[in-house]
Amino acid sequence: MSEFLLKPRIRFGPDALAILNELPARNVMLVTDQAMVKFGLADRVTQILHARGIAFQVWDDVVADPNIATVVRGMKRMDSSSPDLVIALGGGSVIDAAKAVIFALAQIRPDTRREPPCFVAIPTTSGTGSEVTAFSVIKAHAEKLVLVDPLLLPDIAILDPALVASVPPAITADTGMDVLCHALEAYVSLAASDFSDALAEKVVQQVFRFLPTCWRNGGDLLAREKMHNASCMAGMAFTNVSLGITHSLAHALGGVFRVPHGRANALLMADVVAWNADYHGQCDTNAARKYARLAHLLDLPAATTRQGVASLLVAIQALKDEMGMPAGIRDTGVLVDEFEQRLAEMVGQALRDNCTPTNPRAPDAHALIEIYRRAWTGNAVQNH
Ligand code: NAD
Repeated sequence: MSEFLLKPRIRFGPDALAILNELPARNVMLVTDQAMVKFGLADRVTQILHARGIAFQVWDDVVADPNIATVVRGMKRMDSSSPDLVIALGGGSVIDAAKAVIFALAQIRPDTRREPPCFVAIPTTSGTGSEVTAFSVIKAHAEKLVLVDPLLLPDIAILDPALVASVPPAITADTGMDVLCHALEAYVSLAASDFSDALAEKVVQQVFRFLPTCWRNGGDLLAREKMHNASCMAGMAFTNVSLGITHSLAHALGGVFRVPHGRANALLMADVVAWNADYHGQCDTNAARKYARLAHLLDLPAATTRQGVASLLVAIQALKDEMGMPAGIRDTGVLVDEFEQRLAEMVGQALRDNCTPTNPRAPDAHALIEIYRRAWTGNAVQNH
């Protein structure tokens, strides 16, 4: 028996933010970061609350890749104000921090008299899909821990394309590749289903079509809307069927060397596709056939499974190149000696990552070392 969970309620499109005029609330906590304040996005939320005469407080110092100290800070703030509505406005980092704070407070304060707050997630990047996932990624020292629990799911997600227009090109590229990676990993996950496949196929087509436009012209609100919706649909898929080792390896790389999450995925994705497909061997795995199917959907040459996989690898590479992304890990400023020194530690983290069990091919330490070393130089097509 299988299950596909659909939560939260999603309001999307231009002016989706206006739903904040309808939500009942007496005491709101806005969780956000300094970029949201700088770009005036936090004001767009507080102006609505102010006009409605609703009391609110703002916690605006969440940092990228939140850690346990961030969560503890947030718990103190939220515990003292007891909001009935929590609004997380920001990228995956802000939404994950808010999720972890609400979740942790519910664990240590199972006070049945106090209802948990209504939780609204408003993503300002098109990347993680965190607004619809039961995941929260929190850093503990140099390790990113992936919390997975249905209680982490927001109640309402608001997808307003105007809120992503200010994302700079490099972050648009990183986060957009994260969307692609979510779709690719959900598509070949051991838990994949008709439901997740339908979402993943749509996402892959939308990313190849609209991401380069978002990168070139951030003000193109139609392209932004398509990528924002794609990000959310990818989240819907992977929250149900989980991910794979691109994410496990990326979490470790990001935790140890502070490579931004989407960029880490972009650096590793093609080499994982090649390994999952057994591209250097028979190229006849179930994952290989699914990658070839995606190539076919993208109108790329896919007369055979091998040709389809090769086409997908070339397309991933071309997308990265078009957006001027680094080819390999060595192009991100990581030093080769340090990389080699910390390889075993990263592989250990990746093996125990929550995303590893659903990867279509079970990895061992040797395989993960090989993938990291191939991704060091990048260029998966030539590598194989
Ligand atoms: P992010 O939230 O870390 O944001 C990246 C940068 O972009 C930050 O400096 C932020 O201030 C800035 N930014 C965000 N929105 C902006 C806007 N509209 N205009 C200008 N600048 C803006 O990046 P992210 O990729 O969205 O989130 C990454 C985090 O999410 C990582 O910790 C990753 O591990 C985690 N993650 C979570 C899930 C999940 O399901 N919960 C899934 C994948 C990744």
